[in-house]
Formats: sequence, C-alpha cells, structure tokens
Amino acid sequence: MRSIFVICMESEYIKQHSPDAYFCEESMQTTQFIWFDGKMVPWYQARIHVLTHALHYGSAVFEGMRAYACADGRSSVFRLNDHCARLVNSAKIMRFDLPYTAARIAEACLETLKANKLGEGYVRPLSFVGYGEMGVFPRDNPVQTIIAVWPWGSYLGAGALENGIRVKTSSFTRMHANTLMTKAKASGNYINSILAKVEAREDGYDEAVMLDASGFVSEASGENIFIVRDGIIKTTPWTSILGGITRDTVMRLACDLGYTVEEQQFTRDEFYIADEAFLTGTAAELTPIHELDRRVIGAGQAGPVTKRLQAEFFNVVRGGNHGYDSWLGWYTV
Ligand code: PMP
Repeated sequence: MRSIFVICMESEYIKQHSPDAYFCEESMQTTQFIWFDGKMVPWYQARIHVLTHALHYGSAVFEGMRAYACADGRSSVFRLNDHCARLVNSAKIMRFDLPYTAARIAEACLETLKANKLGEGYVRPLSFVGYGEMGVFPRDNPVQTIIAVWPWGSYLGAGALENGIRVKTSSFTRMHANTLMTKAKASGNYINSILAKVEAREDGYDEAVMLDASGFVSEASGENIFIVRDGIIKTTPWTSILGGITRDTVMRLACDLGYTVEEQQFTRDEFYIADEAFLTGTAAELTPIHELDRRVIGAGQAGPVTKRLQAEFFNVVRGGNHGYDSWLGWYTV
C-alpha cells in the first residue's frame, strides 16, 4: 500500500505544476483516484470546464453511501444496490440519459473503493449535464458520471451520535413537490438545504428542520425526521421529502423489533411534545435530537427507543445481523 506521505507529495506536485487550477485550502480527506466515466483518474486531475451546464444550473443527480468495515475483515457498502437504483430513478425524473445501469454504477463504486484501498468511508456518485448548450434545454449535452470516495466521520459533529443535537425550525419552507422534484436527489434541490443549514448553523443550532408548503414537518437539510410519542414511532410521509434509504432501513428495523411505525403528517408543536426524536440519513446515520426551537425533547437525551434503534442500525450496517445480509454490498481491500 502506498504511504500517506507519497500520496501527499504527489498531491503537492500536482498542485504546484497546475498553475491553471484552483485549489482551496483542503477541509476534507482526499483519496487517490476518482472514477470518471469508466476511467480511474488521479484525484487532482478529475476536472471539468467552467462552462459545464451543471455548475450553472444544478443539473446533476447524485448519491451518498457509506462503506463500513465489518467484523470478518471484509467491508460492505450499505444498501449499495438501493442507492444505485435511486440514482437511476433521479436521472429518470430529471430526463437525463444516463449511459449506465444501476448494476454498472454499483460495480464502479466497489472498483473505486478498492482502487483507493478504502475499507470504510463515504461514496459519492454524481451524474451531471456536461459542457455544450448553455441554455436550459441541454438535450445534446453529454451526461457524465464521477464516483469519489473519501473517509468521512460523524456528519453532525463529534458527540452527535451519542449526545444528540439541537435543531431549529427553518424560516425556509421545503420546496413543494411540484416546484422541484423531491424524489430526485438532484443537486439543484440542495440550494433549499443550503439556505436552511447555513441559517441554522449561524443561529447556533446543529441542523435545520424544514416545514412543507402546508406547514407540516417535512425533513432536515440532509436527513429524514422521526419522532416517538407514547411508544409510537412516526415519520413524515413520502410527499415533500427525499425517500431516505436510512429512513426505510429504520422503519424496517423498528417493525421487526415490534414497534408500531406510522408514516403520518405532524406539526412542529407535536414535535415539541414528543418523548424522543431523531434524524436519519446516510451521512448522519441515526442521530438523536435533544432540543427543537429551545424546547427540550423528552428527557433531553437519546431516549430508549432511539438508543435501541441506533444500536440495531450499527449492528446491521457492520454485518452483525445476518437477517439483513441482502442489504450489504461486500468488497475486500
Ligand atoms: N433528505 C435529504 C434532503 C437528504 O439529502 C438525505 C440524504 N441523502 C436524506 C433525506 C436521507 O436519505 P438517505 O437515508 O438515503 O441518505
């Protein structure tokens, strides 16, 4: 395996010898290769033109998955096939002609993890409308695909998974399902998320809770929302939200553990008087919420249902419960 030192020296070399390229101070851990339309390209050479359509209009679809190191020395991308199917569906909603099947994307994700010798980390496929027509009818522009992987720790900050987070109802409404297509994980949709997240963070909270156009709780900037009240687990219906794969996982685990799970609209004041609440998402995993809009939720810490589901979630993603083996996309580095 190549040492980190060698990789860093190479990165430095590329940076110094690429005066035309713009590199900002790195705030992420890089890896060696990015899959770019079938080829493994060195990280710093995976470049596109500044007039790329997606850069101007958000015309791209993407996925986020997590690879976990499992007990037997192998690794697995959790729900790899479901994520790749969602990418293909996002492209269909957006009317992008994606030249790959979900199976080919899944295979390429594993190739990228292996090429980078990454046994645990985040996987980001992105299909975007490339260079060509500059208007908003880019039918002849190429649709290009990249897959990047990198190590990514706790998304909502150190201690979030154990201690929970503080959230705020956003002043930004989640987009209506007929404004932008919420079932598509489309890049342009994330402008709404960025507005909400920046506001929440600058106001001293960890994450934003957005309401839908009718005023019901919708989702967070990059997570789905669950509350627990009187032993019943509730999550928002699949209307103005992205159909989270972690949401689906947690609903299934909760049912299998014998809990009652309801997909039902609820208001922010029902959220205030919940016994427990948590967020789900690939990056955020299963993160407890202990405060919303300065109201303490339940006992102000991860409750018993949240803790049980979180423990089962981590057990399953690391291959500890063979009942869910069909969710694991195995590979070895
Ligand atoms: N909602 C939004 C807006 C998201 O960006 C995400 C993250 N993909 C989720 C929900 C959770 O989806 P998943 O569990 O599939 O990661």
